[in-house]
Amino acid sequence: MADTSPPQPAPARRAASGRYSAWRLLREGLTGQRGWTRAWAKAAPRPHYRIVIVGGGGHGLATAYYLASEHGITDVAVLERGPIGLGNVGRNTTIIRSNYFHPDNIRFYEFSLKLWEGLEQRLNFNSMVSQRGTLNLFHTEAQRDLFTRRANQMRLLGVDAEALDRAQVRRLVPLADLDNGRYPVLGGFLQPRGGTVRHDAVAWGYARAASAAGADIVEHCEVTGITQAGGRVTGVQTSRGAIGADLVCLAVAGHSSRLAALAGLTLPIETHVLQAFVSEAVKPLLDVVLTYGAGHFYVSQSDKGGLVFGGAIDGYNTYAQRGTLPMAEEVAASAMTLLPGLARLKILRQWGGVMDMTMDGSPLITLTPLTGLILNGGWCYGGFKAIPAGGFTTAHLIACGTPHPLAAHLGLTRFASGHTVDERGAGPFPYAH
Ligand SMILES: Cc1cc2nc3c(=O)[nH]c(=O)nc-3n(C[C@H](O)[C@H](O)[C@H](O)COP(=O)(O)OP(=O)(O)OC[C@H]3O[C@@H](n4cnc5c(N)ncnc54)[C@H](O)[C@@H]3O)c2cc1C
Repeated sequence: MADTSPPQPAPARRAASGRYSAWRLLREGLTGQRGWTRAWAKAAPRPHYRIVIVGGGGHGLATAYYLASEHGITDVAVLERGPIGLGNVGRNTTIIRSNYFHPDNIRFYEFSLKLWEGLEQRLNFNSMVSQRGTLNLFHTEAQRDLFTRRANQMRLLGVDAEALDRAQVRRLVPLADLDNGRYPVLGGFLQPRGGTVRHDAVAWGYARAASAAGADIVEHCEVTGITQAGGRVTGVQTSRGAIGADLVCLAVAGHSSRLAALAGLTLPIETHVLQAFVSEAVKPLLDVVLTYGAGHFYVSQSDKGGLVFGGAIDGYNTYAQRGTLPMAEEVAASAMTLLPGLARLKILRQWGGVMDMTMDGSPLITLTPLTGLILNGGWCYGGFKAIPAGGFTTAHLIACGTPHPLAAHLGLTRFASGHTVDERGAGPFPYAH
């Protein structure tokens, strides 16, 4: 079994913006807040880098950081077409957990959870990691069996999972209508170490640390072509000119197929839209991440008091970052069944993000048929929790040329050999994962 203990932190580097601490907050407060500087440098692209990472989302930035901290590779550029943090890394519902069924997936996501647990200290950045627990409700005997199987699998691998009866669920979530007439709740499974993380702070924290380590974070630099010569990738064309590279890594999530097509590759990925919603702020009433088992609905309460919730993907291929009303209605119906007390809550914001859905629902951290091109993608709608492990194992693949043992099951060749990692058993239907 692969080593899933979190790595020892590399020696801390000092960010140009200085070290953040309670003492610094106090000092800046007393001296007119004049000492703060940019958290990361706004780099202009150089003509050549050893590694070019396309996409300044969570995975691209984390890869740059771990390349520096684990492998000492700092001749790296992260090219982002807009400002960093406006892709899915800043659009998700912020849930982290490792309650998977497939053993390889449990190990991978548990490794990520362990990295989340020490991330703020490691990056010296407050990402508001909140391990408030994730609670999956079940509504039928068959669902209880399914969840029990998953929880047993997790516990066999040393991961926390607890079965809760109705009374325990009622105590934890008094707001939930367990006796609702549509889908009464029979119980739940809790992963106490699951929770939420402030999503955009993850992008900012990794960007600051990668920049401090020497990587160039190049914003407003769209990759428009991938150059090849002598049978290998040699760089990228961008809106800010050509940039040469010994190796290019695509980490563009919902745009994976589009970018791979620039290199002449067709990926087993479809792009779909997923919506999220935030309500007006209310007093604390939900102290856990709650998921409904009779439909697709998950909800948590942010530190500002708003309820953050979402459901399933809309179910059609698109690159538009907005969703449709029928899915909003479906999410609202689930919310009303489970939490009717929220009926008069006002929704403040709604948005969508484009999801790179694979044929088996599992991601890709992989070499490609093109020498010099590596892919991190296919995150479906679960790639936020995977950012630390995704960046860590992608950096390993780039630096060592071979997959990290924790991500060895996430190669592209699995689709040709039939070794798909179908966590949900939904078959080769991206919309169903
Ligand atoms: C509504 C919603 C809810 C979600 N909820 C959760 C959740 O609760 N938990 C969870 O684990 N996951 C969740 N996810 C999924 C998760 O957000 C994504 O899987 C993950 O963020 C994807 O990785 P990323 O952060 O690297 O992607 P992104 O942040 O999308 O990064 C990709 C970047 O590539 C850039 N890019 C694209 N094309 C180019 C180009 N040509 N040149 C340069 N740059 C380019 C984009 O601008 C973007 O910034 C959710 C997603 C959405 C949309």
